[in-house]
Amino acid sequence: MSDSSLHPDTIAVHSGRADLAELGVHALPIDLSTTNPLPDVERGGDSYEAMATGGRPPADGSMVYARLWNPTVARFEDALAEMEHAEAAVAFSSGMAAMTAVILAQTASTGRRHVVGARPLYGGTDHLLGSGLLGVETTYCHASEVRSAMRHDTGLVVVETPANPTLELVDIEEIVTAAGGVPVVVDNTFATPVLQNPLDHGAAMSLHSATKYLGGHGDVIAGVVACSEETAEALRRVRAVTGGLLHPLGAYLLHRGLTTLPVRMRQQQENARQIVQWLIDRPEVDEVFFPGLDGDPQGILQRQMRGTGAMIAMRLSGGYAAASAVASTVTLFTHAVSLGGVDSLIQHPAALTHRPVPADARPDADVLRLSIGLENAADLIADLEQAFQAPAVQNPSHLVAAGSEAAQLWSI
Ligand SMILES: *Cc1c(COP(=O)(O)O)cnc(C)c1O
Repeated sequence: MSDSSLHPDTIAVHSGRADLAELGVHALPIDLSTTNPLPDVERGGDSYEAMATGGRPPADGSMVYARLWNPTVARFEDALAEMEHAEAAVAFSSGMAAMTAVILAQTASTGRRHVVGARPLYGGTDHLLGSGLLGVETTYCHASEVRSAMRHDTGLVVVETPANPTLELVDIEEIVTAAGGVPVVVDNTFATPVLQNPLDHGAAMSLHSATKYLGGHGDVIAGVVACSEETAEALRRVRAVTGGLLHPLGAYLLHRGLTTLPVRMRQQQENARQIVQWLIDRPEVDEVFFPGLDGDPQGILQRQMRGTGAMIAMRLSGGYAAASAVASTVTLFTHAVSLGGVDSLIQHPAALTHRPVPADARPDADVLRLSIGLENAADLIADLEQAFQAPAVQNPSHLVAAGSEAAQLWSI
């Protein structure tokens, strides 16, 4: 049960463990059963019915089948819900499975098949909304244009803040007002519940790619949505029917990972702050993207977040050639997609994470995204400094021809 008098650090360590003492264990158990004994035909049938329509297993019933319910997954969901100040949470096999369930639950099952997508969005989300695969029609717009994008048949508004990869902040309350009662889902992957709780600002759902900060160790793919119990029922129904389940081993690792999330987040953010301080004075860098670096003119960071997070984007003065050289010259950073783990990653959004986004909405080709980990900040800075010595970074002019040819691939 949630106790809101406790500090979030304490909640992160103790949440989702209410039944452990009764079970006589201290560490989280992993329940792997795919099927479960039924007390009798009638109670078995009633349990099935309850969960297939999105409910929880009845007290005198059975969990029936692991596509309907799993206690290890449910404990992680309870923990995440508490951290997000939500009644419930529903976990999925990936962030995209979570987003798919959100879209299906709010559109196909309500008959309102129009979605408003406030760009920039994660490339996969942008692509999913525009793909036609889920039978929705999407209007993309800037966050400031949501009100005029709304239609009588709009079933869902999708936003992301801080946005990927520009770290632009979106005012959640403003979007909720513009949506006028239509549910708003906020992709909270970059901020995590440690830094931002979208439901406190009126959002109906807070979605995470749990693959990133929640797991934090780069070894679990998962997604989770925090919301009201009523919305959770709709999402569980989609999950039970479509089968985008989180495996209990993944749920166990995520639940264990939540305990260190506040500490990881604070240290990764402090490392990021030091790296940003260094980057802004470097001639090799034209522009640094980091929440609050613009002075937070609308006060969104101040109002909505408890910190900046640990994601940075930077625009290289030497253009695409310099960006691609830095990505392949770093040694401590790993050149790889994904983010939010204990080790630092660097990647080229236009070529990779945002490749499915239409050219006119794709990030610029001279931008790199950095996910800052738990290494020592001075070591990370030294790695960037040595990468900046690459010829393409220091003297890009003789490489302009080759660089611009490759850059055309990313439509710049
Ligand atoms: C990675 C990511 C997703 C997709 O999550 P998967 O777990 O890879 O399916 C969605 N949104 C954001 C912001 C992400 O970074």
